[in-house]
Amino acid sequence: MNCRGVIREISNYLDGELDSSARADLERHLEHCEDCRLVVDTTKKTIQIFCNSEPVALPSDVRARLHEALEKRLRRRAP
Ligand SMILES: [Zn+2]
Repeated sequence: MNCRGVIREISNYLDGELDSSARADLERHLEHCEDCRLVVDTTKKTIQIFCNSEPVALPSDVRARLHEALEKRLRRRAP
């Protein structure tokens, strides 16, 4: 999985909706990609703050805004 894949799947990953092979794939990427680790970590913390530590799905508008922000960030980095 590449950075784009991680961004695409991040909400599924954090919601626990990824199947085990996709999850393992994503976690392998996180092991060597500090950027994605930071994004996942920040997103996880944000969700926890929003939801008072209860694991709940992101509201769709928050999810959309998050994806947009992450896509922009990726586009800036990629030549
Ligand atoms: Zn990455």
